[in-house]
Amino acid sequence: MQALVETTGGQFPAHTYLVDGTNLIAYVKKGETEAFYFKNPIKGFDKRGRKFEPGNINLFTQKKASNANTVIGSSGQVYTVTEDSCTCPGFTYRGSCKHMVKHD
Ligand SMILES: [Zn+2]
Repeated sequence: MQALVETTGGQFPAHTYLVDGTNLIAYVKKGETEAFYFKNPIKGFDKRGRKFEPGNINLFTQKKASNANTVIGSSGQVYTVTEDSCTCPGFTYRGSCKHMVKHD
């Protein structure tokens, strides 16, 4: 596994990604120190046309966020789900959503 900092610029923020081969395991948002782990690794992380430099692997050795999970929505949006909240629009409107049902 290796940590990669995106240096592409433009529309790509300088997030730090934890990759294992071509699988994307987790990422740390630019300017933040807490890693978000994907519930399931994202296969085939596409680095074509983008630039990366070796990043700080130590960002990913910290303790995982207590009970938060990151899920990918049907349109590719990234939501953070905890035991009693979700950042998706469905939860915002209804107070519940499919992401929480899947959370176990
Ligand atoms: Zn949700």
